[in-house]
Amino acid sequence: MKFEKILFGTAGVPLCTEKKNNPVEGVINIHKLGLDCMQLEFAHGVRMKDEISSALRKVSYELNIPLTSHGPYYINLNAREQDKIDSSVERIIQTAKISDLCGAESMTFHAAFYMKDSPYDVFDLVEKSMNVIEERLSRLDIEIELRPELTGKTSQFGSLEELLSLSKSINSCQPCLDFSHLYARTGLYNSYEEFLTVIDKIQEELGYDSIYNLHMHISGISSNSKGDLKHLNLEESDFNWKDLLKALKHKDCRGYMICNSPNLEKDAKMLKDYYASLS
Ligand SMILES: [Zn+2]
Repeated sequence: MKFEKILFGTAGVPLCTEKKNNPVEGVINIHKLGLDCMQLEFAHGVRMKDEISSALRKVSYELNIPLTSHGPYYINLNAREQDKIDSSVERIIQTAKISDLCGAESMTFHAAFYMKDSPYDVFDLVEKSMNVIEERLSRLDIEIELRPELTGKTSQFGSLEELLSLSKSINSCQPCLDFSHLYARTGLYNSYEEFLTVIDKIQEELGYDSIYNLHMHISGISSNSKGDLKHLNLEESDFNWKDLLKALKHKDCRGYMICNSPNLEKDAKMLKDYYASLS
């Protein structure tokens, strides 16, 4: 899969949508707003009536607004109890099934918490579950990119390095690059040069063409030493989104850019317009 450009969209239906729980109207509004894609948010559970998923697939195809998805928050592939790990696996598979019905080709989720375990042990456990998930999805004939998210809290599995290793070991796995989380997590990566090093690293580890098929997240963000974080609108945050877009442009990165600022479409539009103004 190789994109022609960066597609800008929102995490969930745009705020201007009258019926907030109607993703079909959300896609129509994305199109009206002049945006390019939309992420389905299953943050609080993966349920969708069949008629909605088929209507979504149809409208997304007709208006040329591709979809991505985000799995539920209560996933932890490193839970203490085996049954909680099992239900986390089920939730990821359920997200994949519904996403596939809607025509989404890339899905993201927060894979695990460290629970004070060694990151190496957590990695092994996550890897094991991802193998199981990949195997089960392939038996169901579901082709979807599994994209564990680059997480913003240091208590969560999902550093850049972990995601790159996981992507090398699991075929259908690629990182979901949340640049705002990367900044919150490390306190680094907020300048043009640093953004370039991230892109270079991805290319080195995952192949030259990997940057032509990215799934990215962006928002304003603030964080404290406890790793608590808050999503903000871009202009209320010191996150250097302009230099990020310049770096992405310079390297000709392509794929989904999903905005999850509180004002959703307003920042998504601002990002798209600024990107278009770069020559
Ligand atoms: Zn997320």
